[in-house]
Amino acid sequence: MSKSIFTAPHFNDEAAAFAYVEARLWANGRVCPKCGVVDRSGPLSGKDDRIGLYKCYACRKKFTVKVGTIFEDSHVAMRDWLVAIQLICSSKKGISANQLHRTLSVTLKTAWFMGHRIREAMRDGGLEPMGGEGQTVEADETFIGRKQGEPVRAGGHHKMAVLTLVERGGSARSFHIDGATVASIAPLVRDNLAREAHLMTDEAAHYTRLGREFADHSTVDHGRDEYGYIDRKTGFNANTNTAEGYYSIFKRGMKGVYQHCQEKHLHRYLAEFDFRYSNRVKLGVDDVARADRALKGVVGKRLTYQTIN
Ligand SMILES: [Zn+2]
Repeated sequence: MSKSIFTAPHFNDEAAAFAYVEARLWANGRVCPKCGVVDRSGPLSGKDDRIGLYKCYACRKKFTVKVGTIFEDSHVAMRDWLVAIQLICSSKKGISANQLHRTLSVTLKTAWFMGHRIREAMRDGGLEPMGGEGQTVEADETFIGRKQGEPVRAGGHHKMAVLTLVERGGSARSFHIDGATVASIAPLVRDNLAREAHLMTDEAAHYTRLGREFADHSTVDHGRDEYGYIDRKTGFNANTNTAEGYYSIFKRGMKGVYQHCQEKHLHRYLAEFDFRYSNRVKLGVDDVARADRALKGVVGKRLTYQTIN
């Protein structure tokens, strides 16, 4: 029988956990977070010194790998952080704060906070435009949950709106938008899509003019072409199945695992589902590699309980 990945030393031993994180965050040398010098520091290993403590020879300050990351100011053991990151990265629909609380024996509040910090680490704010020449990016919207203080009405206006751009065979980027309108959608599509891309949408009016700005724009009428169609001239598969596949996982996760999501936190859940989708097995990223990628994102993402709320 193969061993569980959780038997690895860095999930069980605190010194091994620090060494694991240091090897990944300081791959190009140990950086002093106070003055920025590289590899001019030494470990402090007196019996009263904390695990992973270093002293900078340039500025004389002490530091650990936690400084300036999502781990800073947290009393949770590093090995527990690594377990939590591994669990969130390898659970297709996410993992609830309740489950983390029980698995790690931390308080529910701590578990909730850890989840949001890890989501923050997964947020990469991708700047490169999606979709190059010959590549197709599907754009679609979905509605989920309920806006705060908004009465439930027909038409779904009480729900939170999400725009997702998914490159076929590639990554996904989702955004919390005010509503399915040109004003909310057009700037995001323009900022995130290469002009050479083939844009694929439904027939919603807000894509009509926008579509002309791209190399190609195909549309499907969800009422008429339930499963899409093949363009006879070009052989192009006109459908939004990729975006719908993304939303099906997202919705199952949000309803089944997270259940309640306040509007102010939605962008972080979107980052989590985007991250797993963009680093999926089909693209050659296994569970361990995915967790390592999330770990690399912990730098510069400090999030305090005050800023999160
Ligand atoms: Zn220094």
